[in-house]
Amino acid sequence: FNPDVQQRMHSLNPRQLEAVLHIDTPLLVLAGAGSGKTRVITEKIAHLVRKHDFKPHHIYAVTFTNKAAREMKERVTKLMVDTPAKGLNVSTFHNLGLNIIRQEYKALNYKANFSIMDATDTGQILKELMKKNDLSPEELDGVQWEISAWKNQHLDPKIALEMAENPLEQARARLYAAYQKQLHAYNAVDFDDLIGLPVRLFNDQPDILTKWQNKVRYLLVDEYQDTNAAQYKLVRQLVGLNGKLTVVGDDDQSIYAWRGAQPENLAMLQQDFPGLHLVKLEQNYRSSQRILQSANALIAQNPHVFEKRLWSEMGMGDAIRVIACANENQEAERVVSELVVHKFQHRTKTRDYAILYRGNHQARLIERALREQNLPYILSGGQSFFDKAEIKDVMSYLKLIVNPDDDAAFLRIINTPRREIGATTLEKLATYATNRGISLFDATQEFGLTQILSEKSLKRVQLFGQVLLDWVKEAEVLEGAEMVTFVRGVLDKIEYDNWLMETASSVKTAEKRIENVRDLLLWIERIVKKADEEDGDQLKLAKVVSHMTLMDIMERNEDEKEHDMISLMTLHASKGLEFPHVFLVGVEEEMLPHKQNLESPGLEEERRLAYVGITRAQRSLTMTYAQKRRKYGEDMRCEPSRFLYELPEDVLQWEGKPGVELSKEEAKAHGNAQLEQIRAMLAAKAK
Ligand code: ATP
Ligand code: MG
Repeated sequence: FNPDVQQRMHSLNPRQLEAVLHIDTPLLVLAGAGSGKTRVITEKIAHLVRKHDFKPHHIYAVTFTNKAAREMKERVTKLMVDTPAKGLNVSTFHNLGLNIIRQEYKALNYKANFSIMDATDTGQILKELMKKNDLSPEELDGVQWEISAWKNQHLDPKIALEMAENPLEQARARLYAAYQKQLHAYNAVDFDDLIGLPVRLFNDQPDILTKWQNKVRYLLVDEYQDTNAAQYKLVRQLVGLNGKLTVVGDDDQSIYAWRGAQPENLAMLQQDFPGLHLVKLEQNYRSSQRILQSANALIAQNPHVFEKRLWSEMGMGDAIRVIACANENQEAERVVSELVVHKFQHRTKTRDYAILYRGNHQARLIERALREQNLPYILSGGQSFFDKAEIKDVMSYLKLIVNPDDDAAFLRIINTPRREIGATTLEKLATYATNRGISLFDATQEFGLTQILSEKSLKRVQLFGQVLLDWVKEAEVLEGAEMVTFVRGVLDKIEYDNWLMETASSVKTAEKRIENVRDLLLWIERIVKKADEEDGDQLKLAKVVSHMTLMDIMERNEDEKEHDMISLMTLHASKGLEFPHVFLVGVEEEMLPHKQNLESPGLEEERRLAYVGITRAQRSLTMTYAQKRRKYGEDMRCEPSRFLYELPEDVLQWEGKPGVELSKEEAKAHGNAQLEQIRAMLAAKAK
C-alpha cells in the first residue's frame, strides 16, 4: 500500500469514506456545496481501480461541463500515480452520448461521419422549414425551445402530434417531424439527439444495451441535480440491474430547470433503485465561516426536499463586502481596482480571482476595465467566437469535408469565396438532389447534371464538386499533424484570407477576421497535439470537428491551459468550481434575481444561482451593485437585490449606503483614491 494513498484516504472524513467504500448497491451522496462530493467521485474512481480491479475503461464518470470533466480527469490522474488511468471515461453527458452514437451509428441508421449541429445551424434549418410551412419566423425561438423540450422529455414527433391540443401545437409537432427528417437527410444530429438517440437505441435494441452495460461496469454522476429526463433515462439504462452507480448532487444547486433539469430525479432514484444507499455530507472544506453562514441563510429561504446543515472549520474569515457603485461603469472600474489592491496587499496569484455575473452581457464592461489595467483574464462561456461569420465559414468547410451530406454547410460555403454559382443553378441542383434523395454534394458528382445546367454553370459546379471530393478523400486518411497541414492547405487553396480582405468593410476588420481564423487553426493544432501527448491519439478531422462543436454546449474557449488569469464567467458556468477570492457583480433586483424570474418558482431558482455564486468563494467574497444602470438607452434606478437582505446582517459590510446615490464627484473621488493607493504602492514597490 502506497503510504501517500493511505494518508489521503485517511484525510477523507468518515461519511466520505463510507461513500467511497460503498459499492454493492446504488449510492446517492446528497450534500451542500464544498462538502467534497466531487472529491468522493475522484477518490472512488481511484479506489475502484486499485482495490476492486475495475479496468479504467470500464469506469464511466459523467459531469455537466467540459471544464468540470477536464478537471475531474486531472484530479483522478493525479490520484492514480501508481496505477494506470488510461482509458478512463470521464466526460460530459453529451460526450458520452456522442461516443455511443459514434460506435452505433449503423444501428441508428446514420453514416459514420455525421455532423453535430449547434443551435445556430438548427435555427437556420428550422427557419427554412417554417417558411415552407407558413409559420411566422418570429416563432423561431419558441419552436426551437419546444422541440428541444420534446426531445429532452423523450417524446418523438408522432407522440408530440398526438398530444397537441390545438392547430398551432399540431403545426409545431409537424415541423418537429420535418426537422428530424431534414437532420437525418443531412446525416446530422443536434445536441439533444446526443442523449436522445442512445436512449431510443437502448430502448429498441436490447442486445446493444447489453453490450453497453458490459462496457459500463461502474457509473458515477456528478451534479446529478441538473440531469434532465432523457439523461436520467440513459443513466438507468446503462446501470440496469447491476446497481453499480454512484450519483452525487445538491438540490440547492439545481440551476438548469430552464433546460429541462428535473430535481425530482433525486426522488426518482429512491423509487427506481430500491436498494439505494444515502450518504449526507455536512462538513464544508471550501469556504470561511462567514461565507458559509451567508450561503446557509440565503438558501434557508427556499423550500427543501432534504434538510442539510453545513459547517466548516475554516475560521471566520474576512468580512463579506457589499459595495454600492454609482453606475455600471463605476462598478466595473471599482471591481478591478479592488482586485488590484487586494492582489497587491495579499501577494496572491492572478488566477485566485473570479468575477461572476448573472448574464453574459455584463462581462463587456469588466473586460474593458481589465484590459485598461493590463490584467490577464479568461472569459468562459457565452463566447461569440463560433458565431462569427469567418469562423462559421471555416467550420462549414471542415464539416462538409467530414460529412459531404451536410447540405447546410454546403449551402453556406458554395459561394464563399465567390464561385459565380448563381441562385438559379443552385435551385436546379437542389431540385435534382431532392428528386433523387441525394445530397447536394452527391448531385455535383452526377452525370445527369449535363441535362439541366448550362455549360458554364455545369463547369463551375463540377469543378467545385471535384475539389471537394479530393478533400473528402484526403481527410478520410490524414491524421495528427498531417491533418492540420491539410486544413491549412484547404484555406490556402480557397484563398480565404484574400476573400476576407476583399469583403471586409475596413482593413482593420479584415485583419481581425484573419486573426480569428488563425486562432481557430492554432486551436485545432493544440487539440491535436494534446490528444497525441495525453492519449497517443492521432486525431482525424472528424474527431476535431465534433470536439469543437461540442465545446459549444456549455462553455467555449475553455480549452486553454490553466494560465495565471482572472476567471470571468456566468454563475451557471461557475458550478462545481472554487476560487480563493470571488467578486459577484450586479447583485440587484431584476439582475439577480433576473427580471423574468421574480416569482416562484423562478425566484427560487435565482436564489439557488446566488447560492452557487456565494459558495464558489473560499476566502473572500465581495458583492457589488450599481445604483443606476443604462437599459434600453435610458438610465434606470436599481435596487440592491432582495437576496442581500436575506443574508445575516452581522457578516456583511456595506459600503455606500443602499438607496443613497453617490454623487458623480464622490464616485469619482472614490475611484481616484483607489488608483492613487495603487500608484503609491507600485511606487513603493519600485523603490
Ligand atoms: P460543489 O457542490 O460546489 O460541487 P463539492 O461538494 O463537489 O462542491 P469538492 O469540490 O469536492 O466539493 O470539495 C471542495 C473542496 O474541499 C475541495 O478543494 C476539496 O479538495 C476539499 N475537500 C474535500 N474533502 C476534503 C477533506 N476530507 N479534507 C480536506 N479537504 C477536502
Ligand atoms: Mg462538485
